[in-house]
Amino acid sequence: MPHTTPSPTELLASVFGFSAFRPGQKDIVDAVLGGKNTLAIMPTGGGKSLCFQLPALCREGITVVISPLIALMRDQVRALQEAGVVAGALTSGNTEEETDAVWNAIEAGTLKLLYIAPERLASSGTERMLKRAGCNLIAVDEAHCVSQWGHDFRPDYLRIGELRKTLDVPLAAFTATADAETREEIVTRLFDGTPPETFLHGFDRPNLTLAFAAKDSPRNQILGFAAARKGQSGIVYCGTRNKTESLARALREAGHSACHYHGGMEADDRRIVERRFQAEDGLIVVATIAFGMGIDKPDIRWVAHADLPKSVEAYYQEIGRAGRDGAPADTLTLYGSDDIRFRRQQIDEGLAPPEMKFADHARLNALLGLAEAHECRRKSLLAYFGDTEVTCGNCDLCETPPDLFDATTSVRKALSAILRTDERFGAGHLIDILLGNATDRICQRGHDALPTFGVGQEHSKPIWQAIFRQMMGQDLIRPDPERHGAFRMTQAARPILRGEANITLRRDTLKTADRRPAVKALVSEEDAPLLSALKAKRRALADAESLPAYMIFND
Ligand code: ADP
Ligand code: MG
Repeated sequence: MPHTTPSPTELLASVFGFSAFRPGQKDIVDAVLGGKNTLAIMPTGGGKSLCFQLPALCREGITVVISPLIALMRDQVRALQEAGVVAGALTSGNTEEETDAVWNAIEAGTLKLLYIAPERLASSGTERMLKRAGCNLIAVDEAHCVSQWGHDFRPDYLRIGELRKTLDVPLAAFTATADAETREEIVTRLFDGTPPETFLHGFDRPNLTLAFAAKDSPRNQILGFAAARKGQSGIVYCGTRNKTESLARALREAGHSACHYHGGMEADDRRIVERRFQAEDGLIVVATIAFGMGIDKPDIRWVAHADLPKSVEAYYQEIGRAGRDGAPADTLTLYGSDDIRFRRQQIDEGLAPPEMKFADHARLNALLGLAEAHECRRKSLLAYFGDTEVTCGNCDLCETPPDLFDATTSVRKALSAILRTDERFGAGHLIDILLGNATDRICQRGHDALPTFGVGQEHSKPIWQAIFRQMMGQDLIRPDPERHGAFRMTQAARPILRGEANITLRRDTLKTADRRPAVKALVSEEDAPLLSALKAKRRALADAESLPAYMIFND
């Protein structure tokens, strides 16, 4: 061993074989080397491992790496060993020889990186061992596991903060999950609330074109998108297994080379598709989200979503599979009211605890906000990840800025119809009320006598459907799965209803509104007495005087 430690840049080449740092890596490496507490947020594949592995080689003593998965540890340890670095892991999956080798290297003082699972921190022996072994840096991989807000919460990650205090060494945390709530929790739990040096890098993928479109005739929209990219490799993500099969068939009938892929297929059949996709040029895979993990094809030229993904994170990850080679790639995401209803229902009916459901609704809201963003889509997307310095010119909204209008009056009418019918109906029935359609169902319930009856004739039915969808998108209303999807008003709608706030909607996505048959009238069966509940609501509407006639709830 030479006496002077080689510089990080020298080690980058000599150990890792890379000629240059990726964006952001150098700054993070310098901060960690300088002994600062750091939090680095980089997208998956951004090169986070290097940011603690390289400093580990430059620093005296051992770096302990806390990682949530044995598979992740094994991959990293193997790669490090192949590069000639003395690294090891203590996991329940070790062979006796592996464990012996780790202890021997600790004894001999040669071990540079020690990977452990957070569960190991439960034993007090671990802390003592790390202290004795000369641990001088803690690296926390997948640091979002410390957050209850996310989906990967690992209770044992909560022990890391304690370990940091006991060992009194710097801590470097890494994650790809960048939403503000998760970051805040990481800072609280790992750093005792003292903000570490924070780095947020590399979320922009400038070679990807971003576009969303309201579902109009969804199959044709996907076929059209594929036709414009004939012969190029692409992925179409669908919400259901059935749809992957029918859409793949439609693409084949249109002359494309296409196949479907979902979790219900035999493992062998899935592998065949994976191999074909890797090997063939121009194959389209129509898939559920089961397709993706481990797909490492650099020249995927496009990704389309036939249905709305479940969150911004999922959206970002799925479109991110396109254009890994850096060459231009296109994306298109379709969304409609049915998607919003489907996703909300999925969340509400899921087994997650209430606070997690709340978080999931918030994540979906963020995606819906992105879908009907009012300005540059890339800016909206990256703002979500905390990245604010963005230049775009490569998204649908930069190309054609959306046409906005003040929709306060229409939205108030819709909210009024919802309240006057005691939040018991879905879009179909509400629109009939707004349009003044005296259907049997309306008359039976006496809804033709409501002051809201017929006040919305300035819009057609499809326009009203799009207004309801945008209202769902802005989370002013939510379908209630317990009541057959009847709309309930959220807190966010109250200021609008009270006349204290205005609301802007996009006109362009009204024009391409859902023209498919409305989801079946979502009427709850019981013919309950609406009146008493309505009266309570009326009283709740404080300053009724300032509102138009249809808004005034008199007895
Ligand atoms: P993350 O943990 O952020 O998802 P990884 O650390 O697994 O990402 O790195 C992703 C890939 O990028 C790995 O194959 C890694 O070898 C490669 N990589 C990392 N840094 C560089 C670099 N400076 N130059 C080239 N490739 C790099
Ligand atoms: Mg990683």
